[in-house]
Amino acid sequence: MRVLVASSEIYPYSKTGGLADFAHALIKNLRKKGINAMGITPLYKTIDKEKFSIKSTGMSVKVILEQREYIFEIFKSEDTYFFANQELFGRDYIYGPPGIAYADNDIRFGGFSWAVSKAVSEGIIYADVIHANDWQTALIPVILKEVFHSSVKTVFTIHNLAYQGYFDSRLVYRLNLPPHLYHMEALEFWGLTNLLKGGIVFSDFVTTVSEKYATEILTQEYGWGLEGVLNKYKFKLKGIINGIDYDTWNPETDSKLWFRFSANSIEGKFLNKEKLCEIYNLDPSKPLISFISRLSYQKGVHLILESIKDIAYLDANFFFLGSGEYEQAFSDFANIYKNIRVSTKFQDELSRRLFASSDFILMPSMFEPCGITQMIGMRYGCVPIVRKTGGLEETVKDIAEGGYGIVFDNPTKGEFMCAIKRAIDLYDNKEKFIEKVKTVMTLDFSSETMAEKYIQIYKSLIRAI
Ligand code: ADP
Repeated sequence: MRVLVASSEIYPYSKTGGLADFAHALIKNLRKKGINAMGITPLYKTIDKEKFSIKSTGMSVKVILEQREYIFEIFKSEDTYFFANQELFGRDYIYGPPGIAYADNDIRFGGFSWAVSKAVSEGIIYADVIHANDWQTALIPVILKEVFHSSVKTVFTIHNLAYQGYFDSRLVYRLNLPPHLYHMEALEFWGLTNLLKGGIVFSDFVTTVSEKYATEILTQEYGWGLEGVLNKYKFKLKGIINGIDYDTWNPETDSKLWFRFSANSIEGKFLNKEKLCEIYNLDPSKPLISFISRLSYQKGVHLILESIKDIAYLDANFFFLGSGEYEQAFSDFANIYKNIRVSTKFQDELSRRLFASSDFILMPSMFEPCGITQMIGMRYGCVPIVRKTGGLEETVKDIAEGGYGIVFDNPTKGEFMCAIKRAIDLYDNKEKFIEKVKTVMTLDFSSETMAEKYIQIYKSLIRAI
């Protein structure tokens, strides 16, 4: 069975968030289980072709967008196809500078989806199943079905319903798609074109990244206006919790750590903390609470910003590593408080060192489809402090209920501060704290289980032909 996983980001080639981790873990674990799986993604300027041995296949695809011809050259690494077009992807960022989206993202990702669909339909790249992800690749199932009448089966995964890719009403025309697609049963959405909606309507199977989120998105509170469409298609919707790749995220082998460690030999974790505290001039005897995230409303940054003066007086250290729209707000208090450190931009190496050094990982999200950060944090021995929503609710059980984390319910400053104080109290009870650190390190969030569930879906779709 040949499966193509189409994604606008795939780790380690490109990454802005959990989508990249998901795509990498899925491709890797499908291959491990004997599936002929390949990734398929744009070749961004930021991808190092030499480092990853990415070579030209000599093949290319032409598509017409805005009445012009665009040529996508096809490159390949061991596990991924890359579609190159200098004008669309030869830029400094994947989606745009922090907090800003490139104005032509519709053409960039619509064009990519066209090119992938054409390459597959014309047999340039063979596939039995294409697994598309989020709005950037949502047009693949649409184009395969409605333009090429292809028999290739499609799975579409929603990683975050808050990002639907809506554009103007003329996009169908600009992307040279059949005009009937601008219809309320297809891509039309309140006078706009909604790409994610197309993925839901036209794919053979729809998944989202936790069971909890699969039920939440059917409600008005979490449906972002698509709850009606999702309820209509819920017969083909399933929630499958993401996992993390246990080779990529392994404190025993992670070459970026100063000291490596495991649940059985935890001393290295404390040595990492000492080193980090020395570099950032923090007192290592205090609990270290870290937040590693996109700086967006979804991640509950307003709770942090509202509480900043209160946490500055706590007997704990805080490290915020984040990129995105609130970078300036965080940078403003970077060096003001003696117990708070801030680092902006996306920094893989620093994130790993922080996971290894921190006592707690903080995720006060307003909503969270799955959340990868808390899983990585736990694998690296951080006790999670999370809000009870979506994938966070599914993966973190509160200590008060016999679990291993700190969970709060309402997104208010009061409950947020109360959760932080509970964490500090836990840290003060050394024996209990170490026991929880060891517990979280031995939980199973491996992506193998996730890959197995996707294989069952692919097989059922192929059997149905
Ligand atoms: P989302 O996909 O919604 O951004 P997830 O928790 O699912 O959130 O995944 C986020 C991923 O991105 C994790 O691997 C996390 O470690 C990583 N990450 C987020 N911000 C940064 C940053 N500034 N530097 C390095 N890694 C980051």
